[in-house]
Amino acid sequence: MNRAKMAIVASAIVAGASSPALAVEECREPVARYDVRYAGDDRFEVAARFSSPSSRWDLAHFPTPDRPEAQSASIRSLRAFDKAGTPIPLAYVGEGTFETNDKAGASAIRYEVIADHDLADWNIGAPGKDEVAAHFDTSYLFAGHAFFLLDWDMKRCAVEIHFDLPPDWHVTTPWREVDGHYLVEDSWALGQNMFAMGRDRAEQVDVGGLRLNWLMDSALAPVTGEVRDLLSILPERYTALWGASPGSKFSVFLMSDTMSDGGAFWNSFALRFAVPLSEADRISWRHTLGHEVMHLWNGLGKAKGENVPELEWVNEGFTDYLTLREMSRAGLIDPDMTEQRLANIVRRYMLAGRLTPGVTLKSSGADKGANWHAVYGGGAMVALLLDAELSREDDEAFARMLRALSSQQGEGYDYDRFVDVLDRESGGKARNIITWIDRRPSGGEIVQRFAALGLDVSIFGVDEAYVRFAQCPSGRCPPPFLRREP
Ligand SMILES: [Zn+2]
Repeated sequence: MNRAKMAIVASAIVAGASSPALAVEECREPVARYDVRYAGDDRFEVAARFSSPSSRWDLAHFPTPDRPEAQSASIRSLRAFDKAGTPIPLAYVGEGTFETNDKAGASAIRYEVIADHDLADWNIGAPGKDEVAAHFDTSYLFAGHAFFLLDWDMKRCAVEIHFDLPPDWHVTTPWREVDGHYLVEDSWALGQNMFAMGRDRAEQVDVGGLRLNWLMDSALAPVTGEVRDLLSILPERYTALWGASPGSKFSVFLMSDTMSDGGAFWNSFALRFAVPLSEADRISWRHTLGHEVMHLWNGLGKAKGENVPELEWVNEGFTDYLTLREMSRAGLIDPDMTEQRLANIVRRYMLAGRLTPGVTLKSSGADKGANWHAVYGGGAMVALLLDAELSREDDEAFARMLRALSSQQGEGYDYDRFVDVLDRESGGKARNIITWIDRRPSGGEIVQRFAALGLDVSIFGVDEAYVRFAQCPSGRCPPPFLRREP
């Protein structure tokens, strides 16, 4: 989603969050039905009908140098119809938006999606194909917002999806299946999830109170066992950490690419692995996998499933720290790697001071790309300091704080309420840490603060940071809150 569109989407969410919940009778029937048919030759026909007319639909818009119209370049044969089924004008107006100028709006639209997304390089200027679409083996993978033309202003009621696919095809999706079709909570849950269609069958694992189905590119066969292990260990731990499972059904999509990264959706995430697979990259994708799985639990910086920009440091920084914490405690990374990952957090935060000096935690998420180090490094520093300070007195205090934050989340936090609750649930420690992080203490002050917490940190300039755990009989020992559990 480009920044302008993201702002529109964010304001729609804020408006939605502050208005009373839709009365039950308003949602008596689905607001839309989408019929998807595979027409052969990488083409899908989509027919949508709406219970109330719409006049504007959007796709996500991630332009790249070779594909300036981004996801919309794959849409063909677009037609709209009024209530009587008479064709009315419909046009693409740019930046992922399609509109009809017919006053009464459209009751139905039809179009084709060409699965040609692999021809573009989504790594240049866009977040990567893991947030757009891909074709691997016999499967076609799409982000909902790359496939379904959606009216984001539609009433937030259920949407029906019917698939007409070859008999040996499967659909892999987190959506609920009812009587041979899918019933999606609302148009947002349709847009903000990934799904796949094709002959490949997803693997399934029930763990940590949820059902994960995952579909993997055969080019990644050498790491299937390791991915299966991680997906059967991490959810159990995360559920124990947060005190609850985040829901019932999730889908995971794993594909090959030229670089490793991941994209999180509401009830699904996608991960891409650099091929040929390498030992060095294994360090990177294992953490990314742990990070994306953690996003299924860390909803603190979200309202109605959508990220709140002023809490992006909680979404990303907390998620990154918690991934490191749980992987270290589970023995999935050794003390050397834990030291290196802690040093990465400190280095990122130091770099943020150099690259974006005036940017506070609260303001950093407004431009996540530009303030990357402040969002990830700043947020992870807050989580690390909270854990280190709380764990000195009580090993369970940090996890207890996370559960309390989660239970008071309701429809979502804004910055002020989140910091109030965080401060209260941390016994008054959080506000002090946040103020300190926003003040950008010197390297010397950072070293001193960590030393007082029993963590040996060294900083040189802004781009070198080292961490060494104390020596113990078995080698080097992380502090208790990061130590491998027996
Ligand atoms: Zn993330």
